[in-house]
Amino acid sequence: MPDHAEPSIFTRIIDREIPADVVFESERLIAIRDIAPKAPVHLLVIPKDPQFRDVVELAAGDPELLAEMVAAAATLAEEHCGGQFRLVFNTGTDAGQTVFHVHAHIMGGGLTEGSLG
Ligand code: 5GP
Repeated sequence: MPDHAEPSIFTRIIDREIPADVVFESERLIAIRDIAPKAPVHLLVIPKDPQFRDVVELAAGDPELLAEMVAAAATLAEEHCGGQFRLVFNTGTDAGQTVFHVHAHIMGGGLTEGSLG
């Protein structure tokens, strides 16, 4: 199980403790390039507030922030991959979630079959 007493890797990126390729930032969101891309374009949209562990908690706790993430994803996809993209929220360890600070994967630019991130 992850240690929730420690700031997540994304909080450390938001706080500029560790570097990342930041492609977008607003008051409540940041977007970065995934360090291990699984598609030609692979970005992550991340709320700065670390309180929501996954998209289910986010949808229940702050649906407006979830809508803001989707809108940011659409804008980023226009800029990076012609507006066509896959939006993935891995939810739970068995589904491949490794960072328990909610984030959306934007994947595009020509996806290979089965590349679900
Ligand atoms: P999850 O598996 O939790 O849905 O997604 C976490 C994602 O974060 C993975 O795709 C992983 O490659 C990415 N990631 C993990 N650590 C870092 C990092 O330090 N920098 C960046 N840019 N991405 C990271």
